[in-house]
Amino acid sequence: MRLLLVEDDASILQFLRRALSEAGYQVDTANTAKAAEGLALEGIHDAFIVDLGLPDLDGLELIARCRAQGSSAPVLILSARRSVDERVKGLEQGGDDYLTKPFALAELLARIRNLLRRSAPVLQESVRLQAADLRLDLVRREARRGDHLLQLSPQEFSLLEYLCRNEGRVVTRTMILDHVWRMRIDPATNVVDVHIYRLRNKVDCDTSHPLIHTIRGVGYVLKSA
Ligand code: CA
Repeated sequence: MRLLLVEDDASILQFLRRALSEAGYQVDTANTAKAAEGLALEGIHDAFIVDLGLPDLDGLELIARCRAQGSSAPVLILSARRSVDERVKGLEQGGDDYLTKPFALAELLARIRNLLRRSAPVLQESVRLQAADLRLDLVRREARRGDHLLQLSPQEFSLLEYLCRNEGRVVTRTMILDHVWRMRIDPATNVVDVHIYRLRNKVDCDTSHPLIHTIRGVGYVLKSA
């Protein structure tokens, strides 16, 4: 699942980006409404987290603009504005949930999960991926090969999701580092190879039809046969 985080406070942005990544989400960030609007309209996000006090535009105005241009992803408003009037206004103007600062990380994560679950029926197309007998449920973050439930770490799941979304296409180590490990990692690191190795042991170990293939010197591809 891919989130768009809009926040101009650098320390909150950094903290949340890391926490959400560790929880297994792909996270894009913006610190102005203008940057956020460009990203939001790509239509690739499953939910938005939006601060209201942005330097160039009010967060409510940003939400209204995205909605007007057809964006339907659920929005969690994250704001220091605590009064009942302001919370009601936020929910009436396109927010799906409202969390006041300061907030507890566990509560934020629970609310994001709720938003994603609630919006799941309309997202039906994008919450399940399938390749051969491999099936991924992106809301529950569960992967099954046939009837067998795979025990994957959040990063392994994200890696498998990325390979699945690119079924039949070769992805390079750099592409994987960029999409799955959003925090900058030294490209010389073997983190990708290590995770591919672990993933193979879980996805392909009990089958004569491996799905994850190495393209020597290039990268990896997920495909059947
Ligand atoms: Ca702010």
